[in-house]
Amino acid sequence: MKKGKLIVVSAPSGCGKSTIINALMDSGDFNLDFSVSATNRTPREGEIDGVHYRFLSTKAFQEAIDRGDFVEWEEVYPGRYYGTLRSEIDRRLEAGGDVVLDIDVNGALNVKKAYGAKCLTVFIQPPSIEELRHRLEARGTETAEVIDTRINRAEYEIAQAPLFDTTIVNDNLGKAIAEAYEVFTHFINS
Ligand code: 5GP
Repeated sequence: MKKGKLIVVSAPSGCGKSTIINALMDSGDFNLDFSVSATNRTPREGEIDGVHYRFLSTKAFQEAIDRGDFVEWEEVYPGRYYGTLRSEIDRRLEAGGDVVLDIDVNGALNVKKAYGAKCLTVFIQPPSIEELRHRLEARGTETAEVIDTRINRAEYEIAQAPLFDTTIVNDNLGKAIAEAYEVFTHFINS
């Protein structure tokens, strides 16, 4: 049986990454499982433990690091840790399923190092930093200070885009979903 593949999607916050991933998963055209990461951040409203993340205390997260549970982990924001669980990925790949990961740029490049040709890294890029700021402000879920932090980080992340296998510019959501659909189909069938 064909063994599964990994698709890692990274994007600055507010680039429509979750919407694009969800659209592809909901299309029913892929046999994709979402890799549920662990984090020590507190759940946002509507987030479910074990579905969106495994929400751990800082101590439990540290213990998971010490046990070697993570393929990669990062302090994505000061004091906020996120990590990809080896168990989430390997079990599904062995069973021949494909796995999609939504992780930050450093994590994406580390997963690629660990899994090589079995793994495709996809970067979703906003049309511009100004447009990204506008979208984050329109979303209205973050304070001005958090938006500034996210914009600074976005500038760093966009600078890493050339290290990814593929970049999709999200200047039109429908077009970006269609492009991602093509990229996923091509890689999974290759
Ligand atoms: P949020 O707190 O908004 O859910 O996620 C913040 C950032 O952490 C996003 O860029 C997300 O992709 C990233 N992230 C989520 N899970 C992981 C993970 O397992 N590893 C790494 N390196 N980043 C992650």
